[in-house]
Amino acid sequence: MNILPDFRTLRPASLNEAVAALAVDGAEPIAGGTDLLPNLRRGLGRPQVLVDLTALPGFAGIAVAADGTLRIGAGATLEALAEDARIIAGWPALARAAVLVAGPSHRAAATLGGNLCQDTRCVFYNQSEWWRSGNGYCLKHDGDKCHVVVKSDRCYATYHGDVAPALMVLGAEAEIVGPKGKRSVALAALFRESGADHLTLDKGEVLAAVVVPPAAGWRAAYTKVRIRDAIDFPLAGVAVALKRDGDTIAGLRVAITGTNSAPLAVPVEALVGGAWDEAAAATLVQAVRKTSNVLKTTLAGVKYRRRVLLAVGRRLVDDLWSGR
Ligand SMILES: Cc1cc2nc3c(=O)[nH]c(=O)nc-3n(C[C@H](O)[C@H](O)[C@H](O)COP(=O)(O)OP(=O)(O)OC[C@H]3O[C@@H](n4cnc5c(N)ncnc54)[C@H](O)[C@@H]3O)c2cc1C
Repeated sequence: MNILPDFRTLRPASLNEAVAALAVDGAEPIAGGTDLLPNLRRGLGRPQVLVDLTALPGFAGIAVAADGTLRIGAGATLEALAEDARIIAGWPALARAAVLVAGPSHRAAATLGGNLCQDTRCVFYNQSEWWRSGNGYCLKHDGDKCHVVVKSDRCYATYHGDVAPALMVLGAEAEIVGPKGKRSVALAALFRESGADHLTLDKGEVLAAVVVPPAAGWRAAYTKVRIRDAIDFPLAGVAVALKRDGDTIAGLRVAITGTNSAPLAVPVEALVGGAWDEAAAATLVQAVRKTSNVLKTTLAGVKYRRRVLLAVGRRLVDDLWSGR
């Protein structure tokens, strides 16, 4: 690791001040810093100003409205999410996804906003400056070629956030605040499948909060596969939300992470209205296979990640279907 580059830090006291500070070229937000600072110490980025979002009033709030809607400020820590009794009771898949991120000391500082907006990762990118220079750099940073898909004109770095897929299957929306005001989008629309440009936030925009509707009959779960169970990014992660009506699937949502440049919803609408049986499981596995694009972006083998993704996806629906 290098020493950190020189930058100024601003600690705005209001969201408007933060947005104004971020509109300036060379400015970037920082929250817990658990993703950004290790990257800067590897020479991945040269911000002139870091705008610290952790002093914004109400930014870390977690509230449940009278109609049962959950609103989580982007500055809420993952530890707070994982330990909040209302979230554990009403949206356990979210609490589970949060507690599976990194290690306890990371989660004490890491925020929801930082988790969702974390950078994409790749074996050719998350390396020291001298390692990357020896390799001629890469398309994501300082270079002009992708070492994963040679001849590609886009970067295939992978999104490995745990919390996004859980929020996607829960039907969450992202509240975004920027120079043009406030807007809300479905959580999936915060992302695009491009390793070097995977967020749809415009210059100066910050993720302000996430709004999650009441569970209303949906049961959901999130699971991930990682090399070190104590602390590691997902090599593959799957979230599922299921509504069961007797022997019929009344609703099904599936989202994956760790496989593509964005967390992705898997199209599974064809399964709604049918039973959960071997044929349905085969259709699900086929849909997950088609949606995912596992490439050599991690040290773990591609075949292993593909197979384990399909296996945990199916197992998660099995478990939810049988009430486990
Ligand atoms: C050893 C290690 C293991 C890890 N394991 C995991 C893991 O298992 N799963 C996982 O998901 N992550 C993991 N991480 C990554 C990281 O710790 C988490 O994703 C964490 O939640 C990031 O949150 P943060 O507040 O620290 O983000 P920061 O580092 O402060 O920010 C991350 C990025 O988001 C941007 N950002 C922050 N807040 C906002 C906002 N409100 N609006 C717009 N942009 C914003 C920043 O500019 C930066 O680009 C790991 C990191 C390490 C070092």
